[in-house]
Amino acid sequence: MSLLAPSAEDPSPAGISPAASDDSTDHLLTNATAERYRAAVTEAVSRVGATIAATDRPFTGITVDGLAPTVAAVDLDTPLHDTAAALDELQEVYLRDAVYFHHPRYLAHLNCPVVIPALVGEAVLSALNSSLDTWDQSAGGTLIERRLIDWTAARIGLGAAADGIFTSGGSQSNLQAMLLARDEACRRELAGDASPKDARLTDVLPRLRILTSECSHFSIRKSATLLGMGAEAVIAVPADADKRMRTDALADELARCRREGLIPMAVVATAGTTDFGSLDPMPEIADLCARYGAWMHVDAAYGCGLLVSRRRDLLAGIERADSVTVDYHKSFFQPVSSSAVLVRDRTTLRHVTYHADYLNPRRMAEARIPNQVDKSLQTTRRFDALKLWLTLRIMGAGALGELFDEVIDRAADAWKLLYDDPRFEVVVEPRLSTLVFRYVPGTDPDPDLSDQVNLHARDALFASGDAVVAGTTVDGRHYLKFTLLNPNTTLDDIATVLDLIAEHAGSYLAERPRPALSAR
Ligand SMILES: *Cc1c(COP(=O)(O)O)cnc(C)c1O
Repeated sequence: MSLLAPSAEDPSPAGISPAASDDSTDHLLTNATAERYRAAVTEAVSRVGATIAATDRPFTGITVDGLAPTVAAVDLDTPLHDTAAALDELQEVYLRDAVYFHHPRYLAHLNCPVVIPALVGEAVLSALNSSLDTWDQSAGGTLIERRLIDWTAARIGLGAAADGIFTSGGSQSNLQAMLLARDEACRRELAGDASPKDARLTDVLPRLRILTSECSHFSIRKSATLLGMGAEAVIAVPADADKRMRTDALADELARCRREGLIPMAVVATAGTTDFGSLDPMPEIADLCARYGAWMHVDAAYGCGLLVSRRRDLLAGIERADSVTVDYHKSFFQPVSSSAVLVRDRTTLRHVTYHADYLNPRRMAEARIPNQVDKSLQTTRRFDALKLWLTLRIMGAGALGELFDEVIDRAADAWKLLYDDPRFEVVVEPRLSTLVFRYVPGTDPDPDLSDQVNLHARDALFASGDAVVAGTTVDGRHYLKFTLLNPNTTLDDIATVLDLIAEHAGSYLAERPRPALSAR
């Protein structure tokens, strides 16, 4: 690309074409470059809009080997000096072959199509680049985040002493909740006189236990390890046939902990398990937590959308939690990242409070200057809250809830479809919007063959790009999974994808090498 000034016929929009006068500061967003910024970002936005409008499949089916050379061929030390040219290149290395969550036949993971008001927020927050660690890096941003935390805590019903913080995602929210639970358990155990930052923590750590359903998210186990507890610290409580935590089993495990001198530092209930969308029985779990003095954490990373839906009653009992994880970037239709951890008692957040002279000295806390870093595991932190703010201000919570209700309705209809279809077997009737099922290769099929057929069907579908579905295991066997988060996905789309799966499964069965008959 020429570094010379564009000719008069240059068709590129103002501000995005190469200019002879370019120096490095022209690339900074400053009072002098506002027009250049507007033109460049507008160009990017219109290309994304055009690409999304033209996508007819959720994926092109490109392979790693097919795409890697294109990415590797880009010479990062030779800049193009031209936004339009870089966006052309981006089309090849990313946009053309990306996985598109807005497509109605993207049915795989907990990725949502995103609401436009949140994208408006995203555009604003990255341009201002506020950092929410301290008041002196954000001002109003801090107050907006605090209002949204209060709003969410009120929806949950956590009470007047509640607080919380935005995080990067459910995994981090769960980690922070487990950290607070650990330090509260240690504080109690150390007779309240020693700080959990004390060395004696090491005496208590090996006795701490987290009790959670066998269907809970792996980030709970990961958190336990990160927090210095061994793998044995997480007790997997069995789930019932509907994949809800069995409270009789929980009661037994709590009693066993007490008998063995172990400390049940937390019980983690899941409000919307990642695979099955099942909701653990929160009222009963809250009763048991109260009886054993255990911290109750509710992982509502997936189910939090119920807070604004007409199915709010499914979350009954969540108001008794000590902490709650919500992922707005799942069922609130927000772009990644947008998540929060909420706590019933704001004073528990002190376990993550550290003062740095350069940033948030103690005297600022004494002067009641709101420095959000005092409550966070992160330091520099995005103003993700702005996306939710504009979403609530432009479309409102009720409209978000309607979107989530719609995908839950669709999942219920899809369950009937699957249940009546002899080609498939479906595990549980959904409460939220996932369906775990498998293709059944004939009557009384060999379990290994069933695994192979389903693994093949998923891969073949992904390679075709016609649809994207997920997979998981149930009792060690391979299943397929739909996660519905797109209200534009119709029952027809689902029926079409089931036919595609059956076709891929059928051709696998027809083409597989058959074992010799004599081998039986
Ligand atoms: C997705 C999920 C998480 C992890 O959230 P991230 O935002 O992906 O880190 C935790 N718990 C549950 C139940 C989830 O579904």
